[in-house]
Amino acid sequence: MNNKPVAVITGASRGIGRAIAISLASEKFDIAAIARTVESEGMKTLTREVTEKNAAFFPVGLDIACTGCQDEVVKNILGRYGRIDLLVNNAGVAPLKRNDLLDMTEESYERVMNINLKGPLFFAQRIAREMIYLNRQIPDYKPRIIFISSISSTRSSVNRAEYCISKAGLSMASSVFADRLAGDNIRVFEVRPGIIDTDMTARVKDTYDKLIAEGKVPQKRWGSPEDIGKAVASLSRGDWDFSTGAIFDISGGLNITRL
Ligand code: NAP
Repeated sequence: MNNKPVAVITGASRGIGRAIAISLASEKFDIAAIARTVESEGMKTLTREVTEKNAAFFPVGLDIACTGCQDEVVKNILGRYGRIDLLVNNAGVAPLKRNDLLDMTEESYERVMNINLKGPLFFAQRIAREMIYLNRQIPDYKPRIIFISSISSTRSSVNRAEYCISKAGLSMASSVFADRLAGDNIRVFEVRPGIIDTDMTARVKDTYDKLIAEGKVPQKRWGSPEDIGKAVASLSRGDWDFSTGAIFDISGGLNITRL
């Protein structure tokens, strides 16, 4: 059994997940980093960045949408570390093409829902069961689950409805897991990023540059992956442990309802 706590982060090869993995390595977690493949440049770089912080690193390939593959992955992580203290359900995708709601295809809907909602939901279920078991095995065990949703959980974008719907569902997933697991010593949190500078937003960079310059984001800047990494680090330290089910907007004020 690992002496240090272990964090499992999905979508860790790039962007927000990568920043979360590095920040949790600084918080003295050992890391299991999940992405579709372990062969990418991103995963290789992350191996170095995490191990430089004296944290152990275990790269894992998993298509999160493949619910039938999840059990083996959890067993492999437990085989390596013997414990999971924190799950950060971060992996997610935008639609391959932004289409008006009236032209949204069933194929795109299923792809986005399977990756953004169904996969993370069943992964959390599998790991929550393990955490309940580990409660009795590890003294002073403080398990936590974090869902990375989006400001799109509550904001409509008619040209990527499937994304908004998936994130609205993920917000409710966070609530029901928080409710179900509150009596099992497992805290559950939702982190809602705003407009963050990653590969996901690269193809709409000009649009968001303009919106930000016009004042759409009250704090008038792009969010960085590190902004999210810092918020997750704070949750991982136990600073918010009497707040299970809470939603943390990390959006430069986009959450403010303006007149
Ligand atoms: P990103 O830069 O595009 O990175 C996406 C990550 O998810 C990559 O590590 C990717 O792995 C992984 N991934 C994609 N499909 C996967 C699958 N089927 N199975 C396993 N892993 C998969 O995205 P990001 O901007 O960092 O977004 C991370 C999360 O934050 C997402 O849930 C996103 O919806 C949310 N978010 C982002 C923003 C934003 O403005 N960027 C705003 C709000 C919320 P590979 O390298 O293997 O492809």
